[in-house]
Amino acid sequence: MRAGIDRREFVRQSAVVAATALWPRTTSGRQSAKTKLILLGTGGGPRPRKTSSQPSQVILVNDTPYVVDCGNGVARQLVLAGVPLPKLRHIFITHHHSDHNADYGNLIWLAWASGLRTRVDAWGPPPLEKMTTLFFEMNAYDIKTRIADEGRVPLVPLVHVRELSQGGSVMQDENVKVTAALVRHPPVVPAFGYRFDARDRSIVISGDTAPSDNLIKLAQGADVLVHEALYLPGVDRLVAGVPNATSLKQSITSHHTTAEDAGRIAQAAGVKMLVLSHFVPAEGRAGTDRIWIDAGRVHFRGPVIVGKDLMEI
Ligand SMILES: [Zn+2]
Repeated sequence: MRAGIDRREFVRQSAVVAATALWPRTTSGRQSAKTKLILLGTGGGPRPRKTSSQPSQVILVNDTPYVVDCGNGVARQLVLAGVPLPKLRHIFITHHHSDHNADYGNLIWLAWASGLRTRVDAWGPPPLEKMTTLFFEMNAYDIKTRIADEGRVPLVPLVHVRELSQGGSVMQDENVKVTAALVRHPPVVPAFGYRFDARDRSIVISGDTAPSDNLIKLAQGADVLVHEALYLPGVDRLVAGVPNATSLKQSITSHHTTAEDAGRIAQAAGVKMLVLSHFVPAEGRAGTDRIWIDAGRVHFRGPVIVGKDLMEI
């Protein structure tokens, strides 16, 4: 160890180097792990951007995709990630903000237009059922035409929606057990975080939340915690000059978590790795990985990964 660098700084720098050196192939060296996490979109907020797609991630267990959130562009991001759209099987929506659900219907519809012929299950807060029904109604012309003209199977009967109003067990199949927890994202209620327990790994997705005790409980001992992250000085820049700056900042800070607090939560939950994502502000992040990692590591002793679109973990 070089003189002038204390042990903590050395460990921290090593984590930065390790994370950087391994991306994008993998961030964890788990090439042989059956369960993979791919970040599809890592920028928070609904505005389309050049630099990052909107929130979504996919967990692949034995090649079955479990999609969590459907920000704008999720279908294309899955294609870029090499996940065949006709294999779409499970969708989980954390909450109904447009950066998390704008392409919920589009994902199912475009997967079907890409050859999907099998069942899709979707879970999320109310009114997911009504949104699904209205989406198919809105696009009935195309759906009907493609069934008649291209010989596709009827789409509507393939999709099964279950609305969630409280935390607890969501589903279990041969690959994974999924559990939800209510998180704090006022005024959007309910809003959920999800935990996926596969045989080889456990992965938790925070959704949007202020620091949440329920999330700490949900994430106990998990291998990976993907947590949303806010950078306060960046928020000041984000709201500067807008007429509603005070209320906008108040809104952003009241239902999100700083990267430093995300580290505190990761430490309290005893997770093995913290992945920061859903960055606010989403823009102007180039070259700022170190700022986010430093914030995440104030309280968390494990590795902190700065999420990037299409990063595999
Ligand atoms: Zn939100």
